[in-house]
Amino acid sequence: MIARRARIGPAWAAVWLVLLSACATPPATPTAPGATDAAQAPSASASATPQEISAVEPAPGSASTVFAPNPGAIVVAVEAGHGGCLDWGVADPDQRGEEFAEKAITLAIAHALREALEVEGIRVVTVRETDAALAGDLYPPLGCSGDPFRDVNGDGLAGFGPEVPEGTRARDELQTRLDVANVARADVLISIHVDSITDEAGNLLPIARTETFYTDETPWGPTAGARLAEGLQAGVVDALGAVAGYERQDRGTRAHNLYIVAPPLFEPTEERPDPLRQPTRGALMPAALVEVGSITLPDEHALLLDPAGQGAAAQGLLDGLVTYLGSRGLAARIEPAAGGDVSIVATDGDGPPYWIRTLGPGDGSVTLPIRITNTGTEAWPASAHLLAGWETSDAPYLRAPPEGLDPVGPELPALASGESVVVTLNIEPPDAAARQVLWLTLSNGDGTFSELGSPPLQLAVDAQ
Ligand SMILES: [Zn+2]
Repeated sequence: MIARRARIGPAWAAVWLVLLSACATPPATPTAPGATDAAQAPSASASATPQEISAVEPAPGSASTVFAPNPGAIVVAVEAGHGGCLDWGVADPDQRGEEFAEKAITLAIAHALREALEVEGIRVVTVRETDAALAGDLYPPLGCSGDPFRDVNGDGLAGFGPEVPEGTRARDELQTRLDVANVARADVLISIHVDSITDEAGNLLPIARTETFYTDETPWGPTAGARLAEGLQAGVVDALGAVAGYERQDRGTRAHNLYIVAPPLFEPTEERPDPLRQPTRGALMPAALVEVGSITLPDEHALLLDPAGQGAAAQGLLDGLVTYLGSRGLAARIEPAAGGDVSIVATDGDGPPYWIRTLGPGDGSVTLPIRITNTGTEAWPASAHLLAGWETSDAPYLRAPPEGLDPVGPELPALASGESVVVTLNIEPPDAAARQVLWLTLSNGDGTFSELGSPPLQLAVDAQ
C-alpha cells in the first residue's frame, strides 16, 4: 500500500498520523543528514597485493530450478513489508484485527518464499522473521513496548509521536532493512507488500491487482532492476491468477523511487531538495517492491489469508526470480572465503544495528582469502579482474564506490557459470589513523560488476 496510517489508539482517535511505509516517500523534515553519513573523502590508493590464487573450483551443479550450476552462491533478501506494534500496513477492511492486516500477510508470504528458496538451495536473508520492527517499537501511549528507537539513517532523529517529525520512525526502519540486504550482499532484495485500493473519496474499491516498483536511477536500475521487477510481476500475476476464482488486474511494473528501492539522493536539486526523501544508503543490488495483491476485494483478502494463496504468491515470486537469474549474464559473488557470509548480527546501541565486518587489528596489513564466484549465466571475459579502493568512513558501509578503484590481485581465469576461485590478498589500509572501508569489486573491461548490481565486498579496518 502506498500511503498508510499508524495504528490508531484511543488517545489519537481524531488524529490520522500518516506513517511512511516501504512504499511511501518520506515527507520533508528540516534536519540535514547527520554524522554517520560519512563524508566522501578522496580515496587513498588501494594497496592490496596478491599472495595466491587457487585452482578453479568447478560449479557444483544441482537439480535446483534456481541457478542450477551453483545455487548456494545466490543470496536473496526477502523483506516482509511493515511489522511490529506501530506499523500494521493496510488494515483489515473488516476491522477484525492485526492478524488480518497487511503485516501478517506479508510475513506469511515471506516465510513461504524463504522455504521455497531454501528447498532450491538458495541462501536467504529474511529482513524480519517475526512480527517485529528492527529499529525500535517503543511507544507506550499506543501500547507498544518494543525496543527503544534508533537513529539508523543518521539524520539525528529517532522515535515516533507528536513531538517527532513525521516519517522519522519509518525512515529509520526502512534504512535498517536496506542495511540488512546490503551487509549480506544479497543478489536481489524482494520487498513484499499488499495493497488497499480506494477511490479519491477514500471508499474501498473491490479490485484485485498486482503491481511492482523498482528504480531506474541506479546504474543497474534500467536493466537489471527492470528485469527483476518484470519477472516478479509476471510470476505473481500468473501464480495468483491460477488459484483466484475472480478477475484480477495486471498493473505491470513502474520505475518509481519508493523508499526501499530508491538510491540515495547524492545531490539535492531544486526539484528534489530533501535528501531525507530517499534513503541515506540505498540498495546496492536490484530491488523490487511487489504489491502482490489487494485486500479490498474480499475474495482476494480471503485468498491471501489462506496458506494456499500465500504459497501461490511465494511461488510467483520464486518463478520471477528464476526468470531474472536465468537472464543475468554477468554477475559475481565476492565474499570472505571463510564464509559466515549472511549471518548478520545486530549491534547494540542507538545507531545503525547492521555493519559490515571489521577485520581484526593488525600491524597495518591483513591477509584476506576471498572467494570469487561467477553467479551469472555467461563465462566471464578474460579481462575480468579485481578492483579495490579505500575510503575513510564512520558509516556502517560505503553507499557508493570510493573515487579511486585500482586493479589488485592476480589475473583471474575466465570462470564459467557457477565456477569459483579463492584469491588471497594482503590488505594494507592506507591510513591507520582513521577507520577505513575497503570496496572490492570486479572489472569486466568497460565497467564494474557493482555497476551491474552485484554488490561489492566491503570490509572495515578500525583506526590503529
Ligand atoms: Zn505496504
